[in-house]
Amino acid sequence: MSMAPKAAVDERDGKAARDAWLAAGGDAIWLPYSQMKTAPTPLMAAATEGSRIRLADGRELVDGIASWWTACHGYNHPAIAEAVRRQLAAMPHVMFGGLNHAPALTLARRLADLLPGDLERVFFVDSGSVAVEVALKMAVQYWLNQGVRGRTKFVAFRGGYHGDTLATMSICDPDEGMHAHFQGWLPEQIILDLPVDAERRLILDHVLSQRRDEIAGVIIEPLVQGAGGMRMHEPEMLAEIARTVCRRGHLLILDEVMTGFGRTGSMFACDQADIVPDIICLSKALTGGTMALAATVARRHVFEAFWSERAEAALMHGPTFMANPLACAAANASLDLFASEPRLDQVRRIEAALEAGLAPARAIDGVVDVRVKGAIGVVQLSDLKDRAWLRERFLARGVWVRPFADILYLTPAFTIDDADLARLTNAVVEVAREWSGGLR
Ligand SMILES: *Cc1c(COP(=O)(O)O)cnc(C)c1O
Repeated sequence: MSMAPKAAVDERDGKAARDAWLAAGGDAIWLPYSQMKTAPTPLMAAATEGSRIRLADGRELVDGIASWWTACHGYNHPAIAEAVRRQLAAMPHVMFGGLNHAPALTLARRLADLLPGDLERVFFVDSGSVAVEVALKMAVQYWLNQGVRGRTKFVAFRGGYHGDTLATMSICDPDEGMHAHFQGWLPEQIILDLPVDAERRLILDHVLSQRRDEIAGVIIEPLVQGAGGMRMHEPEMLAEIARTVCRRGHLLILDEVMTGFGRTGSMFACDQADIVPDIICLSKALTGGTMALAATVARRHVFEAFWSERAEAALMHGPTFMANPLACAAANASLDLFASEPRLDQVRRIEAALEAGLAPARAIDGVVDVRVKGAIGVVQLSDLKDRAWLRERFLARGVWVRPFADILYLTPAFTIDDADLARLTNAVVEVAREWSGGLR
């Protein structure tokens, strides 16, 4: 798509768009994270290319979030498309119980090679939430298999997001998270503040030693807490947490579903802190944003706790579409692109452009914070009520972003060009200015 995005958006009237959506099947759909009664009508996407989304009505938008930060190579990368096409002709899917296939084994070995230390056993699943569920299950059973009973709780951190399934809801931020009203029904976990200062480090250390016999593991999103508010912390703090967890004899689980595959500037966020978690969860950009696939990867000592003559010591899990060959082929092609194209350099270039492009927002009244890490740029506002208005203001500038909580954020494809990136940062600054000016 070479044409420039149209600047002026014809919002004609909501009603025509609503009717068209309903007629197309909108009356049969239940939307994600939406109050159906008041949610704005979704835009109909027709095609994607690079960093652009073409809508069914012909409008073209510059994509600022790469479909929940999955499409790291941009949309429709020909190398991934070709790999999937070839796999589709040979074998779209086969059960993983009793049968294996080259795309999965190749991918497992490549992930083991890319990940630090002896993170070397790859369990494939089909979504980030399930990757975290499996990590929790592994951690609980790790202790049981060694005859240790009662270690079933997890330490997680305020501001965190780990998924929408039952167990993962219980380790999300209990107050600001999306799942607050399920409290009381979910398993009770231990949610602490991130140990940003000496006092909180002491609290973490204290809890980890005092409640040792209840705790199965500690889980954190390294460097950036994503969907919980895009809060960032330094590698030194992450390293300190890892040391504390290790010293107190606990398992450390890193949820790198968001941060994995370059987003924070290194292949994995844990690389920047030079730590090796006991279990790591990967998904989102694993297939370059093309197919549902995730992995839970364990270190050797975790795996060895399941290695036994006893059948009941096995990990009893196995999603139907586990290690789907199409998704594995896409992931292998995606890893080829990380090897053959300068992705991490591109992330550094984006980081600099986000820093420079979003900096003017610091001077805007009501802007609480501007922060950047890798290819993640955030402008935090003092409050953010009218999302429909915001959406309309961004659409009017020909860009697709989707603010949540109190933040405007950008997580573009690593391949985005300078002009499109400038368009995104300008749009964020301009919309923040309009918001501040009292228009909303
Ligand atoms: C998106 C996300 C998840 C959940 O992944 P799904 O594929 O949506 O189930 C879990 N953890 C983190 C850090 C995420 O960003």
